[in-house]
Amino acid sequence: MQPSPPAPTLNCTQCGGELHPDESQIFLTCPYCGATVYLDKAHVVFHWYVAPTLNETQARESLMRWMAGNQTVKDLDRKARITAQAFQYFPVWYFKRGSREQEQIELQPAAATSVTELRHISIPAGDLRPYEASLEAQSLAPSVPLEAATSWAMQGAGAGVQVLESALVHIPLYTFKYVYQNQPFTALVEAGTGATLANIYPAKAEAPYLLAGGVTALVFLSLAALPVLGSLIGSESGFTVGLTICLGLGVLAVPALLALAAWVAAKV
Ligand SMILES: [Zn+2]
Repeated sequence: MQPSPPAPTLNCTQCGGELHPDESQIFLTCPYCGATVYLDKAHVVFHWYVAPTLNETQARESLMRWMAGNQTVKDLDRKARITAQAFQYFPVWYFKRGSREQEQIELQPAAATSVTELRHISIPAGDLRPYEASLEAQSLAPSVPLEAATSWAMQGAGAGVQVLESALVHIPLYTFKYVYQNQPFTALVEAGTGATLANIYPAKAEAPYLLAGGVTALVFLSLAALPVLGSLIGSESGFTVGLTICLGLGVLAVPALLALAAWVAAKV
């Protein structure tokens, strides 16, 4: 019988102890120091999770507040129909990169997602807890290799900047699918902070505001032209007549234009 070649040595990130994982085992607790680590090919990194502070009802309330807010189209909270919701611990690669001058946290989704906004959530270091095996059933396994994520995280980094630390973090995410005007959308609620994330959503339209502003400018420009026209037609008396009409119509136009602006604000 041929002896099998020795497996590459893997050492604990925290204590340096030699790890001997079973084949296909990726989530691991160090037998020497108890650190939770993740094995990505030949790399051993710390494995953390962020505990949810919101339950499902609170996550839904957080979504509703975002839908009722200023970014989204008016009454989205009442007009959108939520079609599905699910909870999962989603994997992100967590990099501390920096130079001697400054350090910075970079996040990269460690699994496929349409919501790349995920990169911009904030994970305070104090919220990181050692990953627990009991969360595995609710956790999505990473599918983006650490090395690929590292090279993305280092894109645009200046000279002298390097990755000081990398870790795998499972973050608590509620995924909501909803339909608005027959179009499907996805929004995520990060259950650590309650932040709502979405790349594409029914946004407030700008066109009606621009149109109302344009109408207002046109009306006042036309009114201002009246005295000028008057003076061209009938010199001094023409100017007075033109000015009188201009002021008279102006007094009428102001409330009408204000009403238009209010109507647009209420509709959009
Ligand atoms: Zn250890």
